[in-house]
Amino acid sequence: IPMKRQVTETMKKQLPPVIFQLLELIGKEAAERDMNAFLIGGMVRDLLLNRDNVDMDIVIEGDGILLAEELQKLYGGSIRTHKQFRTAVWKHPSGFKVDLTSARTEYYDFPAALPKVEMSTIKEDLFRRDFTINAMGVCISTQEFGDLLDYFHGYEDINKGRIRVLYNLSFVEDPTRILRAIRFETRFSFQMDAQTHELARQAANNLRSVSKARLAGELSRMFYEEDAPAGAKRMIDLSCLNYIISTSLSEKTILQRIQLLTDVRKEFEANHVKMKPSFWIEHLFVMFQDHHQALIHAATFALSKDDKHTLNTTLHAVTTITDSADISPLAQTGEWHRQLSQTKNEALAGALVFADAELRQAGINYVIKRNQLIPLVGGKELINAGFKPGPHFKDILFELEIIQLENPDITADELLQYANRVLASGNET
Ligand code: ATP
Repeated sequence: IPMKRQVTETMKKQLPPVIFQLLELIGKEAAERDMNAFLIGGMVRDLLLNRDNVDMDIVIEGDGILLAEELQKLYGGSIRTHKQFRTAVWKHPSGFKVDLTSARTEYYDFPAALPKVEMSTIKEDLFRRDFTINAMGVCISTQEFGDLLDYFHGYEDINKGRIRVLYNLSFVEDPTRILRAIRFETRFSFQMDAQTHELARQAANNLRSVSKARLAGELSRMFYEEDAPAGAKRMIDLSCLNYIISTSLSEKTILQRIQLLTDVRKEFEANHVKMKPSFWIEHLFVMFQDHHQALIHAATFALSKDDKHTLNTTLHAVTTITDSADISPLAQTGEWHRQLSQTKNEALAGALVFADAELRQAGINYVIKRNQLIPLVGGKELINAGFKPGPHFKDILFELEIIQLENPDITADELLQYANRVLASGNET
């Protein structure tokens, strides 16, 4: 029998008032229709960890779609329903989204290896989940509002910093959970308990049979964590990495490169240089032995067109940065721009891993400057200044961009004067 805990006070303290009220309201409407409503999953976990999370996942014992439709009728906003999964997303007028799912949906098959025992609907739902810390619910129906549902001792595991599976075949049934375990370990500085760790180790080879598309999804999330190198290290410890990608690099080299990549990313982020979530491609990339291999292996990962492009430009940028005579730690920003203006931030981050420390820093500085650049003169300004529009605009504007990058204090007038000179000299030839 799970211990009774009440978390209403924690919710009040931890959640934005609008979220708290929204939960109360959903709970009230559910109760009036004789349905039970539970907040579940990551948000419950993060609530107990005092971490911000407003991804409201709600499981309804009853018809979740019907409830969503009525909520929308009563309180506005919009809904999207997926009848086949018995789920609905209600977008509240405040902009917050609520996922409503009818319990007993079959989005995960019930663990085949387990005897089917009598369980309440919500308990069954929670039992299909990955780890005890993610398998708690909070009742939000009015009468029991704030009651913590903790059948598998998730609360204790949260306090002990423990990642624990709910049953022994969990990783065999879904090997991507191994990567999820590592991700949560990394994010919270938690650890798998001894048994879970052993089960993960034994099941690691099952990762071979997971589709590359699913692996890509989990990898991208793993490498987006603050401490991506710790995740990579753990993947190596558990011998997962070799079932996901083959590389002949030493573990030490892989970890060093991922550390460098993470350092670059952090410096980018600290300076508001944006990176796409597809940044994980760069991680894959730096793990391969050589760049040609990178392309061959990456091809098996069902990359999107965009991701393929990122990979190709990374390869190209590595060559530019490490081989071009014009690129050196002393090169002017403009020179970097001439060579790499078309190379995206993500690709540059990946490529800079292969530069030495000094060159890397110069490259980072370039990206930061380029990111801050707001061109003073565009096509409109040129036309206003009396220039005749034409294909040469592109080249002029690029030159002006370079001048502005190298002379941050320059004015628009000065840039236009320069454009005049360029054009005049161009006309002479
Ligand atoms: P994050 O903060 O990274 O979004 P999350 O726990 O919310 O973490 P999601 O991947 O959005 O992560 O999953 C939501 C919930 O669904 C989890 O808390 C977990 O209970 C369940 N879940 C997700 N993936 C699996 C899986 N592969 N196996 C079992 N349960 C899963």
